[in-house]
Amino acid sequence: MKYIIVTGGVLSGLGKGITTSSIGRNLQSRGLSVTAIKIDPYLNVDAGTMNPFQHGEVFVLEDGGEVDLDLGNYERFLDVRLSRDHNITTGKAYLAAIEKERHGDYLGSTVQIIPHVTDEIKRMIREAAESAGVDVTLVEIGGTVGDIESMPFLEAMRQLSIDEGKENCVFVHTTLVPILPVVGEPKTKPTQHSVRELRAAGIHPSAIVARAPVELDDDVKQKISLFCDVPVEGIVSAPDAGNIYEVPMILEQQGLTDYLLKQMALEGTSQDLGGWKAFVERLRNPEGEVEIALVGKYTHLQDSYISHLEAFQHAGAKANARVNIRWVESVDLEEDGVGLLEGTQGILVPGGFGERGIEGKIRAIRYAREQGIPFQGVCLGFQLATIEFSRSVLGLEGANSSEFDPETPYPVVDLLPEQQGVEDMGATMRLGAHEVVIEEGSKAHELYGSTSIYERHRHRYEINPSFLSKLEGAGLRYVARSEDGRRMDILELEGHPYFLASQFHPEFTSRPLRPSPIHYGLVQAALATQA
Ligand code: GLN
Repeated sequence: MKYIIVTGGVLSGLGKGITTSSIGRNLQSRGLSVTAIKIDPYLNVDAGTMNPFQHGEVFVLEDGGEVDLDLGNYERFLDVRLSRDHNITTGKAYLAAIEKERHGDYLGSTVQIIPHVTDEIKRMIREAAESAGVDVTLVEIGGTVGDIESMPFLEAMRQLSIDEGKENCVFVHTTLVPILPVVGEPKTKPTQHSVRELRAAGIHPSAIVARAPVELDDDVKQKISLFCDVPVEGIVSAPDAGNIYEVPMILEQQGLTDYLLKQMALEGTSQDLGGWKAFVERLRNPEGEVEIALVGKYTHLQDSYISHLEAFQHAGAKANARVNIRWVESVDLEEDGVGLLEGTQGILVPGGFGERGIEGKIRAIRYAREQGIPFQGVCLGFQLATIEFSRSVLGLEGANSSEFDPETPYPVVDLLPEQQGVEDMGATMRLGAHEVVIEEGSKAHELYGSTSIYERHRHRYEINPSFLSKLEGAGLRYVARSEDGRRMDILELEGHPYFLASQFHPEFTSRPLRPSPIHYGLVQAALATQA
């Protein structure tokens, strides 16, 4: 097994995840099989209990793992399906060591971070890598070199490179090369410092990916090479890209793939990017343009909705149109009214938890329904579409979800039966891929081209089946259900240009060359409003 370990320096948010994904994508285009693992140095066992404002969206895997959003990037770039053991957190590593200690596995020893926790980290990485059975495993270490939190992970990686041999463990360090407005000159000092920090941890990088607003010239690369003791071929400039999907090409052009292959004593075939290049080309120069309003409650951190944004890129490329997002904070709709939505060509109400902003989202849905504006609802958006319809069309005043109003006279959205009595909040929702059976003749069937699909879920509440006949009688049709027929999965409104919502999250399985059918349907319907 070959490992490429990606670390980050200077500051967070440099796009380490995109660098990792792009390196993997490039190795694939040379005929190698790859997988990726994300290390998150926080004490949460998984990302499921975190507010999106903290770390952005919680990504859901097929096996129900609630993980860091970087796993979404890996899945999109590498077109693979990962499992929950590809996200290792401090919490997971310590929990494993402490469980062993309680079980008596270390009987007689003092249990310590080194070697017991570092052993657990290495074991988890090896197990995930081996069960994937690939040529190369990428390991991205979250956080920034020098943080107390990441130290046990860096130490584990140092050990791994000794255990596995240097040519089997290659380190890539991503850093920032800032350009100060006054001098206008790229500054390499922060990179020098962060490489020094990395070397203090016993790790010598083979390559440095230097992020900067612009492309760095050879002089700057030479300087970094000299001061950081990395061959100049290993210094790669990663300027701000117009689009993240261009990054594989940017890295490839500078010879990074060949350089890494050489470091690992691997041979690759000649490059075959498949449809990727054409996809990037369509993203760059689309014919049309359309605007979708995203009505959310975490809109101040766009990473909270990253999989939707990517799904719209994928859908836009297929529909040959640029999809612009209008960010609408749902609470503002409550105060300022639906004027904020005026002129938009499509509306997305995504998933969410808790009461804040609910009434604003309901207003947006009503506006879409009454004005005939293409609408997509996801998870909470699906539940709220049912609530809105129950209130406005069925006249069930006070209809609600028991999540927001336990006393509602009409609990049209109610707790899943198996959730009764569940007290723990971590990993206890209905999670992961479940079969969804779609009725023939529905819009959903036309979009998916199949009567049986697998999509990823993450919810505690569901449509209350006792209101079903009333809802359907008035034109809100539930055209897809779980395989036992009990749970509602997709709704469509009769006589509306596009009003489609799903209990599952189609954004998690959207891929550059295979967009989410429901997002694609929304983009198409939105484009049709221009005709
Ligand atoms: N809060 C809702 C539930 O638990 C919706 C969840 C979501 O949108 N992911 O069912």
